[in-house]
Amino acid sequence: MARYTGPVCRLCRREGEKLFLKGEKCSKNTCPINKKKQVVPPGQHGITRKKLSEYGSQLREKQRAKRIYGILETQFYNYFEKANSVPGVTGENLLRLLEGRLDNVTFRLGYGRSRIEARQVVRHGLLRVNGKNVNIPSYQVKVGDVIEIKSKQSTEQRFKDILEVTGLKPVPEWLSADRQNLKGTVLALPTREQIDIPVHETLIVELYSK
Ligand code: SF4
Repeated sequence: MARYTGPVCRLCRREGEKLFLKGEKCSKNTCPINKKKQVVPPGQHGITRKKLSEYGSQLREKQRAKRIYGILETQFYNYFEKANSVPGVTGENLLRLLEGRLDNVTFRLGYGRSRIEARQVVRHGLLRVNGKNVNIPSYQVKVGDVIEIKSKQSTEQRFKDILEVTGLKPVPEWLSADRQNLKGTVLALPTREQIDIPVHETLIVELYSK
């Protein structure tokens, strides 16, 4: 599945806020947003953009969610369609589907310093789910799935370096991590309260329901 390959800081500038797309690297000193008093959106007319309309706010909310999870439009819309077709609150279903992606779960377990790195870990075939090789970042995890990093000498140092940064990061309640053995288990699917991303999902649902 295609993904955005341009400069990620540009995406934060467009949203006018830090989205922490580089994970732990988004420190105070290196983030360009901290250096500017006013965040100027990219593009020729960035500075002249006016107050957002209702449609504009809904659109921005969708873009922010897409950017946080690193997903392009078609795939994101497919998630909405799926969320809308199952019982429950559509917005919450949507976020649950996004959180349940294997690349996101790998990030949440601390086996990537950012979702971008976690996606690479998956794509490079370094993971097993329930003992089987899985290299699809969009794979949806299920309750009871056991995710483990394949033990290879060549990647040992890589995960040591990653865990040095993420080791103290708390793991969400719906997952359990055994970082000693580079494993993790899905205990439950997340509730809305357990998903800490700054997105108003109802605006996204309103946008797609027009
Ligand atoms: Fe966004 Fe991180 Fe870049 Fe700052 S350093 S603009 S938070 S990706």
